[in-house]
Amino acid sequence: MVSLNSTLREHALAARGFMPENEGDALYDAAVIAASNAAGPFLEVGSYCGRSTVWLGGAARDSGRALYAVDHHMGSEENQPGWEWHEPDLVDERTGRMDTLPRFRATIVDAGLTDVVIAVVGDSPKVARNWTTELAFLFIDGGHGVEPATLDYELWTPRVARGGTLAIHDVFPDPADGGRPPYENIYLPAIASGLFEETGVEGSLRILRRI
Ligand code: SAH
Ligand code: MG
Repeated sequence: MVSLNSTLREHALAARGFMPENEGDALYDAAVIAASNAAGPFLEVGSYCGRSTVWLGGAARDSGRALYAVDHHMGSEENQPGWEWHEPDLVDERTGRMDTLPRFRATIVDAGLTDVVIAVVGDSPKVARNWTTELAFLFIDGGHGVEPATLDYELWTPRVARGGTLAIHDVFPDPADGGRPPYENIYLPAIASGLFEETGVEGSLRILRRI
């Protein structure tokens, strides 16, 4: 397994977010391998404060690619006040709404990744409907409800190049472990399509290769 250099790894671990260390390392490894199998940039759906973005940005730099980081930065349903994954200090007091863009920007600037990470601030389905470039690596970690997961599957996965990689986060086959949509509405349909085969598992991270 190839690893992110220790300086960037420190930045990833210091960043806020929901990417466990072992899964971030697996994400880096998968992205570097993806770049050796397919042309095109990397794209992440769901960056939050930039934690996974540092592992993937490092992989993009080490592979001579760009990483597009797509997020509206207003938080998923489960990040809103009253929900399980809400962090009150990420609310913009002017609007009373979540805004992770300042934190994301700080993470990328501090990590020195502004030359490879391109933030795309907007609604994932809207961005996807205007996106035509084939991707070497697609990481889906956006909204985890049925509708956002389904739309991310339907609109983004056709952009993965042959030989390229689809990585999905928060895949929980056992409902006792977590929410179902990334499993039922992204992972299962990807496998059922016959277009992807599983090449790796680390925690809730699934790595699929476009056949
Ligand atoms: N990858 C991150 C965690 C992402 S959390 C980490 O490593 O920590 C999920 C993110 O998806 C949130 O930041 C939320 O704003 C974003 N998101 C949810 N629905 C979205 C949509 N429809 N369009 C764009 N971003 C969305
Ligand atoms: Mg996640």
